[in-house]
Amino acid sequence: MGDRLLSVYEILFDRYGELHWWPARTPYEVMVGAVLTQNTAWSNVEKAMAGFGEKLSPSFVADADLIELTRIIRPAGFFNQKAGYLKAVTAWFGGYGYDVATVQKEPLAKIRSELLATRGVGQETADSILLYAFGFPTFVVDAYTIRLCGRYPIEAGKGYTAVKAYFERNLPQSAEVYNSFHALIVINAKEHCRKKPRCGGCPLGGTCGRCGI
Ligand code: SF4
Repeated sequence: MGDRLLSVYEILFDRYGELHWWPARTPYEVMVGAVLTQNTAWSNVEKAMAGFGEKLSPSFVADADLIELTRIIRPAGFFNQKAGYLKAVTAWFGGYGYDVATVQKEPLAKIRSELLATRGVGQETADSILLYAFGFPTFVVDAYTIRLCGRYPIEAGKGYTAVKAYFERNLPQSAEVYNSFHALIVINAKEHCRKKPRCGGCPLGGTCGRCGI
C-alpha cells in the first residue's frame, strides 16, 4: 500500500517537478497565513496580508490593539476571532523570543502539543506552522489530500489523525518530501482534481480508479 502512495508522489513529481509550498517571506508570515487561511480562500488571505504593509512582525501584532488588528485582517473573514487567534499564536512564539532556531531545537511533539493548546490552532494549522515555518517533519492534511485519497483511492483511513499517520508511515520521514508532496497534491487539485474533476490530462489518470467517472 505504501508503494501506491509513493507511486502517486512520483507520478505527480514527474509532471510538476520540485515545488515548495507556502507563499510567505518569513516564518512568522507562515504562521499568520496559517491562521488567516482558516475557512477562507487564499486570495482573501493575500488581501489581509497586504493590509499589514511592511509592518507585519510578531512585535507589531503583539502590541497592536484588537480594533486595529481586526481592521487590517478584515478581508480574511471571521476577523474578530482571527485577531484573537493571531494574538495567541504570537504570544506562544514570544515564549521562544520570536526566534525560529530556538523553536527548532525543541522536540516536534512538544511544539505540536503547545500549538494545539493555543487558541484557534487546530491540527491543520499546527502542522502547517510546524512544517512550513519551522521545517519539522510533520505531514499536513488538508481538504485536497482528503479528496485525492477518496477518489484515487488511497486507503489512508478516516479523519485527520489517521490520514496524517498513514502518509508519515508510508513516506520517508522528511520535511522536504512532506512539503513537496503536499504542494504537488495542491497543484494537481487546482489543475485537475477539482470539486468537479477534470480528469482529461490528469497525470494520475492512468492509475486513478475514479478517472472519468
Ligand atoms: S484522474 Fe480525475 S479523479 Fe483521479 S486524481 Fe485525476 S482528476 Fe482526480
